[in-house]
This record gives sequence, structure tokens and C-alpha cells, in this order.
Amino acid sequence: MLIDGTLTKSEEKFGVINPSSGEVFAHAPHATQAQVDEAVAAAKKAFRSWQAVPLSERKLAMAKVKEAYDQHRDELADLLVREQGKPLASAKGEVAGAAGLMKKAIELTVPPEVYSDTATRRIEVVRKPIGVVAAITPWNFPIFCSVAKFAPAIVLGNTVVWKPSPFTPLTALRMGEILQSALPPGVLNVVTGDDKQRFNVGAHLTSHAGVSKVSFTGSVPTGKKIMSACSSDVKRVTLEMGGNDAAIVRKDVDVKAMAPKVFSGAFNNSGQICCAVKRCFVHEDIFDEFKEELVRCAEKATFGDGFEVGVEYGPLNNKMQLDKVSALVEDARAQGCEVLCGGGRREGSRGFFYEPTIVSNIKEGRRCPTQEQFGPVMPITPYKSDEEAVARANDSEYGLGGSVWTSDFATGNALASKLLAGTVWVNQHTDLTEAPFGGFKQSGLGREFGSFNVASFTEVQTLSLAKQDV
Ligand code: NAD
Repeated sequence: MLIDGTLTKSEEKFGVINPSSGEVFAHAPHATQAQVDEAVAAAKKAFRSWQAVPLSERKLAMAKVKEAYDQHRDELADLLVREQGKPLASAKGEVAGAAGLMKKAIELTVPPEVYSDTATRRIEVVRKPIGVVAAITPWNFPIFCSVAKFAPAIVLGNTVVWKPSPFTPLTALRMGEILQSALPPGVLNVVTGDDKQRFNVGAHLTSHAGVSKVSFTGSVPTGKKIMSACSSDVKRVTLEMGGNDAAIVRKDVDVKAMAPKVFSGAFNNSGQICCAVKRCFVHEDIFDEFKEELVRCAEKATFGDGFEVGVEYGPLNNKMQLDKVSALVEDARAQGCEVLCGGGRREGSRGFFYEPTIVSNIKEGRRCPTQEQFGPVMPITPYKSDEEAVARANDSEYGLGGSVWTSDFATGNALASKLLAGTVWVNQHTDLTEAPFGGFKQSGLGREFGSFNVASFTEVQTLSLAKQDV
């Protein structure tokens, strides 16, 4: 682990499993409470001087971070395949995407807002760093989701304690080593731990008095616990949580052209994307044709070990997720839903592979369409009118993303704007840019990315200056 600029071990360890083989291939340290306290203390100490470093110099430091990171991109992609399971090309894409986030952080501007500037007074709003940021991150995009937090947080003058998911600690630990010398000690700390052990590193960090802000990406149940933990001393908190995105496919689409795109929106990263298509509503006039095309896509999909050439989809990341997805499909089957393809684990593999699965004849209110599956399973349902489709799409506790698929751009735009979700798309899904990202309803609190990083990682200070000579 990286604590106060020094690489540190722990007596306790936990196994890291390669999801393609189901076997432990490495061990990661389980931080002790004293080590987490030390990391927070180091970050707190470093904050005193880091906050006073001019923005331009902090950007230069982030440029050094990026330079060190860039030199190890292939190695990190390789490690990502082994601990996360995704195909190598996707891992390289994630690593490159994270480098892009570092570049965006270096380009951040924090212009002061002048509300009033007269002969007698000036009112200006400035942004101040918050303090120690705990970055708590998930296993689906372990590098991208983490850089999205620590790069802007550090550029904006905060210091960070990063706790990755116990399923993907190795890329974080290696990044700690790689970036160790690019920043002053304590500005970035990396601590790891297994949620199953006695001491939960994430829970300790989020209730720690030395932490001023928690930036969390993960599931809704954990996000709720964090929000509650943060209330004790009114920590700042941003929550990027799960989704149950709907795709509405209108009858005017070119079925053969659009079905593969909807399929990718649901199954990329084996469905383990917060804003993947998780419910698909298709107009009844094209329902059968669209359904057949989706099944064709599923049957053509190649999945396997991420290092195999030509593999498009990897396994689920962990056994817990595999069991959850299997249970959802079994529940759907038991309720009389039709499993059109897939519907089971890959035969003869000890890895966490689940076949791409499409389910129809959905019963309203069942677990499959109402819970986030976070796996390679898509329920599809016919609808009659645009109004009905929008109402059903919005009938969810989640509100992360949503999309409308149509050849009528104006109608698509109008319908998309009626979706209650943080990001809405027309004729695409999961396409993320530097624009703000986050959720309506239980999908999140606050926004990150783009200029919203400034809102997320700074406090607002109003300077009210009387100019007259007193
Ligand atoms: P998770 O909630 O199980 O874990 C996320 C992180 O929280 C991990 O680092 C974990 O160790 C930590 N944690 C666990 N218990 C904690 C506690 N009591 N206090 C503090 N931290 C604790 O989520 P996951 O299974 O790793 O990730 C999958 C979920 O993440 C899905 O729901 C997915 O939709 C969501 N996700 C959301 C976004 C987004 O930007 N909205 C992006 C990626 C993933």
C-alpha cells in the first residue's frame, strides 16, 4: 500500500481471484486500522501545504503523474485483465480512458465569479479545496472510476486516500507504486482491504473524523451506508451508484442496424456497467423481429478469457455477482418468463462465465426487470405507445441513464428529455464524454466529470470586500 509516500505491507492478506479461472492468483494486503489512520493523518498533513501550492504547479504535478502512468499502460491493462476479467482490448481502452481523465484534470479551470465590483465593494466567489478525500471505488472499471476521482481532487488542492474494491486491488496497489514519486508524500495514499474481514476499511474511512469528503462509486446499498456515515460530521459526499437504464426502441428504427447497437449497450463489459441498458422496451409492431435480431447478436457473441484473441466478452468479475445474476434468471424462469437464449453458466469452465441471456414475457414487478442485474442479461418487453414506454421506463427507483432509439430525431429528443435520468441518449447508450455524470433518484447524489468536478471537489467561498476607507 502507499502511505505517506512509502510502500507499506500488512500482516493480514486476502486472495485476489482471476475471474476467468476462478482461482486465487495473488494476495493483497488487508490494512489494519492503524494503517488507515496513518494514511488519513498523512493526507491531512500533506493537505496543509498542498492546498497552498498554486493551481498551475499542481497541474504540473499531475502532468508528472500522467507521464509515469503512461509509461506503464500496457502493464496495467494486463493486470486489469487478470483481476477484472475484461478482454485485453477493453482493458487497454479503460487504461487509455483514464489517461484522458488525467489530461482533463490538468486542463481544469477555476475562474472566480465576480458578483459585484463597484467603487465601494467587490463580491467574489472563489473555490477552496475541501481537505482529505476518501475515494471509494468499484470493480467494474477499477482504474477509470478511480482516476476520475483522484486526478481532479488532487489538481484542485485536496489530498486523497484511495480504497479500491477488494475484487480489484492489484491495479490500485501497482498504481500507488508507479505514482509514488510523482507527488509529494501523503497527497495520494492507497489502502486495500477485504470487506469480509473484521475491519472494513471503507466503513472506517467514511466515518473517519480526518476525512472531509467521500467520493463513492458503487452499489446503492453501500452508498446509503456511506451517506449515513457521512452525516455524523456533515462530510461532503458524492455518490455514483447503480442504475436500471431503459432503452425505448420505436417502431421506425432500422431493426438490423439498431439491434446490434442496443445489444452492445447492454452487454459490453458483460453487462457490468452502471449505465448499461438493463431494461429494453420495444414497440409491439417490431417486437418479434427485434427480439430475433438480439438473439442473433447473443448467439454470435464470443466470450472467454480476456487474453484469448478475438474475445469480445469476459466473465463476470466475481462469484457473488455470478450467483446474483443466476438467481435473477432462475426467478424469472420460475415466474414463467421466456429465456430466449443463454440462461446459464458456461459449461466446462471454472471461471465466472454466464452466457449472454435475453429474457422476454416479463411479469411486471418481478426481480429481473426491477433490480439491477449488473450482468449479461437483458429483459425485453413490448409496448404500444410512446407515453406508455416513457411511463414504464420512469417507473424505477433508479435514474442513472436512459435512451430512445428512432429514425425521428425530433421525437427521439422530446421523449429522451422526459426520461428521469442523469444522462439520456438518442440512438446510443453508455457513450460517456467529459459532460457531467451522475444519477437521479437512488442512482446518485451530486455529479462528477467536466466542470462539475470543481463543484464536487471544492467548497464555495464568498469574499465580500468593502472598499471604502474606514
Ligand atoms: P459495492 O457497493 O459493493 O462496493 C463499492 C466500494 O465500496 C468497494 O470499494 C467496497 O469495498 C466499498 N465498501 C463496501 N462496504 C463499505 C462500507 N460499509 N463503507 C464504505 N465502503 C464500503 O459496489 P461494487 O459491487 O464494487 O460495484 C458495482 C456497483 O457499482 C453497481 O451497482 C454499479 O451500477 C455501480 N457503479 C456505479 C457507477 C456510477 O458512476 N454511477 C459506476 C460504476 C459502478
